[in-house]
Amino acid sequence: MVNTTIKTTKSQEIFAAAQNLMPGGVSSPVRAFKSVGGQPIVFDRVKDAYIWDVDGNQYIDYVGTWGPAICGHAHPEVIAALHEALEKGTSFGAPSVLENVLAEMVIDAVPSIEMVRFVNSGTEACMAVLRLMRAFTSREKIIKFEGCYHGHADMFLVKAGSGVATLGLPDSPGVPKSATMNTLTAPYNDLEAVKALFAENPDEIAGVILEPVVGNAGFITPDAGFLEGLREITRDHGALLVFDEVMTGFRIAYGGAQEKFGVTPDLTTLGKVIGGGLPVGAYGGRRDIMSMIAPAGPVYQAGTLSGNPLAMTAGIKTLELLQRPGTYEYLDKITQKLADGLLQIAQETGHPACGGHISAMFGLFFTSGPVHNYEDAKKSDMAKFGRFHRGMLERGIYLAPSQFEAGFTCLAHSEADIDQTLAAAREVLSSL
Ligand code: PMP
Repeated sequence: MVNTTIKTTKSQEIFAAAQNLMPGGVSSPVRAFKSVGGQPIVFDRVKDAYIWDVDGNQYIDYVGTWGPAICGHAHPEVIAALHEALEKGTSFGAPSVLENVLAEMVIDAVPSIEMVRFVNSGTEACMAVLRLMRAFTSREKIIKFEGCYHGHADMFLVKAGSGVATLGLPDSPGVPKSATMNTLTAPYNDLEAVKALFAENPDEIAGVILEPVVGNAGFITPDAGFLEGLREITRDHGALLVFDEVMTGFRIAYGGAQEKFGVTPDLTTLGKVIGGGLPVGAYGGRRDIMSMIAPAGPVYQAGTLSGNPLAMTAGIKTLELLQRPGTYEYLDKITQKLADGLLQIAQETGHPACGGHISAMFGLFFTSGPVHNYEDAKKSDMAKFGRFHRGMLERGIYLAPSQFEAGFTCLAHSEADIDQTLAAAREVLSSL
């Protein structure tokens, strides 16, 4: 590992104290930097495309609080809207017009969504959508893909991505067999495997859930025809197709992957961007299916803080900012420059690598690839990624601390930020 050249004394003190207070010193596993090694930095504040740690070091940020910060951190218009909303109170636990506004924006934007329910996280959205899939079809089995992450609910902790992949955890202890016995898995991009599962389990599969572009096993795109094939297979078998767009929603296009690829699922889960940095998730889809949710129908799902006025306000303002002309063109331009630049530098410095981008989401694997699924992604040189990550950090570039996470750009990243990032990458990769 490259010697630490930045001063991180306060980060070290705070993180050491945190170890006694919280498991692993964190509130969510990947933050502990376990897979890349070395000391996590402790944040003090965020603004635009930058973060500052408690020792005063500044970094260009490509994590964006794991996706929500697509307009840049602490956007002045989001902050101003929040100040105004704050004066009216922090939680209602009752209907508010803000929910209507955000609901209409989501329904207008996302092709599959005719009705929506707000929750507090992506995990909650995926849990609820699973219950709904089963209730609507009166079937219990579902298909998920290896390396896809749909939050930490029991039923999804089977060959999951994100922190489960990063930490190399097997199916988590504490998850009863009964919770996962109906969760079938297939390799991503493998339609034949999905067909085989449907053939082996006739009339038993409620539906298929996937990340339409994977971000939790690194960045993996769907092969041509994969999403269309899933649409056809599920329709033929009376099963539902669910896109988990918690990460891709409003990020790879305003209408998400379903708009980008022109494939409309039955149900969709959302999170991250729609909360503008406050805790929000959502699920929605066909009116006939969503009408089964309580109190319109019998499928129970509820939440004390759901539809929280501050969270709705941040979401509304964030989507308004994203609607402005040129947003996605700009995101695509800078992200392409970054992703192409990283690949080229890896090539020039003799490191086998592959990767790519769609709009404001990108990835770089330290393997020659191609990467079509989680098994391919696992061929990456993790030790090299760890050294790359630390080298970048020391040069003021904050990347997701795992080879199995996608990177995110935002509207606040400038061309100069990208140039600086590429210059740092050239230095680091030349030294590895
Ligand atoms: N689904 C996907 C695709 C995600 O990327 C995530 C979080 N990274 C989740 C679900 C879970 O969301 P949350 O962390 O808000 O519970």
